[in-house]
Amino acid sequence: MHHFPKVFTPNHPLVQHNMAIIRDKNTSRDSFLAAFNRLASILLLTAFDELPTETVTIETPITSCECEKLDLSEPIIVAPILRAGIGLTQESIRLLPEAHICTIGMYRDEETHRPIWYYDKTPATLPENAKVFILDPMLATGHSALGALDLFVSKGIKEENITFVSVLSAPEGLQTIWEKYPQMRVITGAIDDCLNENAYIVPGLGDAGDRLFNSQLPEK
Ligand code: URA
Repeated sequence: MHHFPKVFTPNHPLVQHNMAIIRDKNTSRDSFLAAFNRLASILLLTAFDELPTETVTIETPITSCECEKLDLSEPIIVAPILRAGIGLTQESIRLLPEAHICTIGMYRDEETHRPIWYYDKTPATLPENAKVFILDPMLATGHSALGALDLFVSKGIKEENITFVSVLSAPEGLQTIWEKYPQMRVITGAIDDCLNENAYIVPGLGDAGDRLFNSQLPEK
């Protein structure tokens, strides 16, 4: 059992069921994408469950009534980390079309496992009360997560207004980000056992980007 007070794993049979499908190396690409999207939906709904609302008066065809709508006085930012973060982006737009998508790009150096920045589509400054949702299916070493967190905190966002959404997390990565940002919330589908020598999550699901985009050509 791991104890990270701000890390939440939805206890839902559909999370477990779809997780089993995407972990399986024999799952077809179609089935992988469909299960991944269903998981994305549950994880993002969980991540968005603390968004503030405001009371508004609505006229229905019958009468007027008070309803709750999202309070959009502060921007909601969704920040997918390229490339695998793209896999969670479409579902976040579908659920929350009001969100501003600010893509950031990091790839990991295969030797040092450290992130290398190559793209930053975030505004120079941001209101400190903006809500930020960072998307990366695999929270492995935590180095890219830290890079993204440092970026948003340096632009004025409060740590407690940031949520990290991952499909799988390694305890090593959670520990790394918890040491620097203990107030940041993480929504993840599962916390796996450990990282292997290549910094892949064990048991994991392999390379999330490769599986999402089918980028590995068959060997001849
Ligand atoms: N990135 C992946 O795609 N998979 C892992 O297991 C770790 C990092």
